[in-house]
Amino acid sequence: MRFSTKLVHAGEPRPRVGGSVVLPIFQSSTFEYGGQSDYHDIRYIRLSNTPNHEAVGEKIAALEETEAALVTASGMAAIAPALLTLLPPGSHAIAHRCLYGGTRSVFTEDLAELGVTTTFVDASHPETFRAALRPTTRLIYVETMTNPLLEVVELDVVVAFAKEHGLTSVIDSTLASPANFRPATRGFDLVLHSATKYLNGHSDLAAGVVAGKRDLVLRVKHKLDHLGGILDPHACFLLQRGLKTLDLRMDRHNRTALALSRFLVAHPNVAEVHYPGLETHPGHARAAAWFQGSGGLLSFRPRGGVAAADRFLSSVTLAASAPSLGGPETLVTRPATTSHAGQTAEERAELGITDDLVRVAVGLEAEEDLLEDFAQALGPR
Ligand SMILES: *Cc1c(COP(=O)(O)O)cnc(C)c1O
Repeated sequence: MRFSTKLVHAGEPRPRVGGSVVLPIFQSSTFEYGGQSDYHDIRYIRLSNTPNHEAVGEKIAALEETEAALVTASGMAAIAPALLTLLPPGSHAIAHRCLYGGTRSVFTEDLAELGVTTTFVDASHPETFRAALRPTTRLIYVETMTNPLLEVVELDVVVAFAKEHGLTSVIDSTLASPANFRPATRGFDLVLHSATKYLNGHSDLAAGVVAGKRDLVLRVKHKLDHLGGILDPHACFLLQRGLKTLDLRMDRHNRTALALSRFLVAHPNVAEVHYPGLETHPGHARAAAWFQGSGGLLSFRPRGGVAAADRFLSSVTLAASAPSLGGPETLVTRPATTSHAGQTAEERAELGITDDLVRVAVGLEAEEDLLEDFAQALGPR
């Protein structure tokens, strides 16, 4: 099956349940005992094995081209149990220096409390990996594209380095979604998502994904079985519904974000634009080689500093000023006051996140309407 067909048909039970074309919601916490010998196989809602969990998990595994996939209560409910599974006390991780804030905190606070240490590297410079390596290193962690500067790091080298040194390679692929990039096909061991974003695509639920080889996913599932961060069957149903239009939505996000970045580059009131689809972006060659499209996230600096950025944010009318991404609505934020407010000004400066940077999560509106709205919000040329 091709990708679009998998979105519709993969994982859907055959024969259909009661002839229902859409898989119904099994709003039942428990199921008849079927002679299972292992606790984790008993059919019980917290063990993530209702028909809704299994169907959406199989669909996502087909999309990511992995043996198995597990859905969780949020992106963080996928990331934290995955890291807790792979990093026992006393072990060490290598991670890219710019990560989703919640993930970074798991490394620097929660795992640190358990005696797990992390060395942050610039994964665009793989020559720095070797110096970070220790006898206790177990894992290397990156994101497909970083937020908000959309860096595309040396993903192939990360995989090769992990294989050479027996590390587990883990990637958060939220910003690409399997419509744009399937990391397991390039050798990544574990693929994580915040399904709150593109996978569900409607800004109306929280969910997460862990995908990879069956034994690895099962190990994370056992941890999740104990920690309890499971997805509710109704949310499974909504996620499965959202997934069916993923390729249509991503195609639109890809095109509109590219058009909007080109418009911003050409605008005299804009100083700088970050989007991997632009030939001038440092990660462009890698994005063009690996990704079907560069996704819906971009960032820019207006001319005129923080005042100009705030003027833009309060002047856009179609775009809502809100965090998150991946939904139908275009959302704009200033990362220094939202996603990266938890970091100090020095930490942000080191990552290149200036106070005047505006992040745009491009939605599904008509390109012309967004361009008109951005044009009026940027003020007279
Ligand atoms: C949103 C996000 C997360 C966290 O996901 P939640 O669903 O909010 O828990 C993790 N990684 C990335 C890249 C994200 O954008």
